[in-house]
Amino acid sequence: MEILALYTSPDTLGSALAAGARHLAAAIQGFALVYQSGRTPAEPDGWAGFTCAKDAQIAGAELDEFIREAEGSERPVRIDPPEGSPRIWGRGAGGVYGFPIRHNGQPRGVALLGCPGPWPRVQNAGIESILRQIALVLDHHVVSGSQGPAEPSDEVLRLSEQLLAQDIELIKREERLTLVERLKADLIETMSYELRAPLNSIIERVISVLANEHEKLSSTGRDALRGVLDDGNALMRMLQNILDLWRVKQGEVSVEVQDVNLAEVIEEAIFNVRDNLQPDVVLEKRLPSSLPKIRTDLAKLNQILFHLLDNAAKFTRRGRIELELSIEDGQLFVSVTDSGIGIAPDDQEQIFDEFFRVDSSADSRHRGAGLGLTLARALIEKLGGALSVQSEIGSGSRFSFTVPVSIS
Ligand code: ADP
Repeated sequence: MEILALYTSPDTLGSALAAGARHLAAAIQGFALVYQSGRTPAEPDGWAGFTCAKDAQIAGAELDEFIREAEGSERPVRIDPPEGSPRIWGRGAGGVYGFPIRHNGQPRGVALLGCPGPWPRVQNAGIESILRQIALVLDHHVVSGSQGPAEPSDEVLRLSEQLLAQDIELIKREERLTLVERLKADLIETMSYELRAPLNSIIERVISVLANEHEKLSSTGRDALRGVLDDGNALMRMLQNILDLWRVKQGEVSVEVQDVNLAEVIEEAIFNVRDNLQPDVVLEKRLPSSLPKIRTDLAKLNQILFHLLDNAAKFTRRGRIELELSIEDGQLFVSVTDSGIGIAPDDQEQIFDEFFRVDSSADSRHRGAGLGLTLARALIEKLGGALSVQSEIGSGSRFSFTVPVSIS
């Protein structure tokens, strides 16, 4: 962003404005001009500060009208680049905005700020706050009754400089945060793509050796390869979960509704976890006598069921797991109940946090990054529903959720 000019009414304080403009320029790495109304850009000493005004080529009646409009407005006013604009005007979708400088409802001037790209929304609050500080200094001058341009007291300038410095820190922090968010997004997208390709190839090769060279492998070799395969699959799921969760949080995931055959969904969910069940665990389903065809987001429903059943399978050594499902008043109700290790009351809220794992499960043989429930809950909420847990240590857990569906 570039600051082109600060326009103020004629009785304002040159040096206070110059300081404000310098601060604005430092905050947003642009450059600034201070202009006191009553003079025109053609009079070079009307500009206190820098020399970019000529590049902007804004002058005359058009400029006066714009300044007047911005001064009387509550919000920043945009001016479109004129025909055949030179370099500042000509850049992208940005254009130039006039920010009204007001104090106690009174107009005190206009800051003319140019932005080569789309206007960075995050900075508006910071800029407006700086302008409020400038207005305060100007007001002090007006209230103290000075005639014509004059210098404010050192104390006022010192205070205003301090306030401005704080605001600049704020803007810079916001800018840094935006940058960190962008880096995080790039890292997550790149990491999951770049790691998944080689990991996929490792998994495929191991499967191929296990299938084609089965007879030639010693039992130790087979076990080792099965271990590699299990770890590879777990890592792959983890990468997928990280990417999915990130996308949901970024709001990049949309709900895609389609006709869903619930009987098939249930069979597939059970099929997907059957290999993870302990030998002494039975998995049962409890369903109404007839299941209507519903419309919902099939992929998300599959994902949610997988995470809940996979957890039940991981944390249940013996006994049973029950998948219950019913539909009433346009709500799909699902619960997964297990007779597993259970979750202590203190941990029951935290298990939905990213990367949280109960201590006892972190050091056990269970794999997982603590993302399954976070993702399941985010997906359920995306579908307009809610997920809850009831659990008792040593007796088992019950995860249940409802989501609105339409009956087709
Ligand atoms: P993970 O992928 O590590 O299983 P989750 O987010 O799915 O992560 O679960 C977080 C933690 O909640 C698990 O590590 C475990 O400690 C606990 N948990 C989840 N489901 C169950 C369950 N059915 N029984 C006991 N503990 C569970």
